Amino acid sequence: MAELILKNVVKDFGKTRVIHGVDLHIHDQELVVFVGPSGCGKSTLLRLIAGLEDISDGELFIDGELVNSRSPKQRGIAMVFQSYALYPHMTVYQNMAFGLELSKFSKAEIKNKVLEAARILELSELLDRLPKQLSGGQRQRVAIGRAIVRDPRVFLFDEPLSNLDAALRVQMRIEFAKLHREMNATMIYVTHDQVEAMTLASRIVVLSAGRVEQVGSPLELYHHPRNLFVAEFIGSPK
Ligand code: ADP
Ligand code: MG
Repeated sequence: MAELILKNVVKDFGKTRVIHGVDLHIHDQELVVFVGPSGCGKSTLLRLIAGLEDISDGELFIDGELVNSRSPKQRGIAMVFQSYALYPHMTVYQNMAFGLELSKFSKAEIKNKVLEAARILELSELLDRLPKQLSGGQRQRVAIGRAIVRDPRVFLFDEPLSNLDAALRVQMRIEFAKLHREMNATMIYVTHDQVEAMTLASRIVVLSAGRVEQVGSPLELYHHPRNLFVAEFIGSPK
């Protein structure tokens, strides 16, 4: 179970404010998509939630607990980036298991976790391959597998499909929807692609210049955009 609450979250880089007091309530097991044009603060907001950047002002709660000063690991959050740097000299199995070896888990437990993640992601046949022997979509799945084996409360995805070609993006969208159903996890998914947002999200958060313009289901945003920015971004009829 993981519910996230952001209260008036602010981020300044030096004298420049890039996140201007964001309030959000993300429910347990929701798949929320952050959309907005390049530079509007999507990645920064994810990094604040993950604990990769310090929040300048405001509060972040996970399951009712204030986590502003907690490390990424303590927050139980896993983040998958768009440039999914896999270790080139390690197999798929080793890439997914890496990091768990330093933790409290036994070899048998690690194996169980990796095999289960591989099953979910349909990588079971590819565990002995090296990254260079995989397609782009398969590599992206390994990167997701590395997050799954850590058993996080929350998954964050930052434009995970932007390096893939159009056909593969459509296929991976379907896989993300399936992943969300299988994992029963809270997920935040960042994209600048409206179609991706509309097809994946239980709710969409539209961001502009570090502010939330509107939050709602894809249909709500499409039929009742609050302003011209949302209407144009979502592609609502005029
Ligand atoms: P998006 O992911 O929506 O494209 P970002 O969150 O990457 O946007 O960036 C939001 C704004 O914050 C941009 O103006 C960007 O230049 C600025 N920014 C991001 N990271 C830093 C940083 N480490 N230092 C200074 N400015 C930053
Ligand atoms: Mg970004």
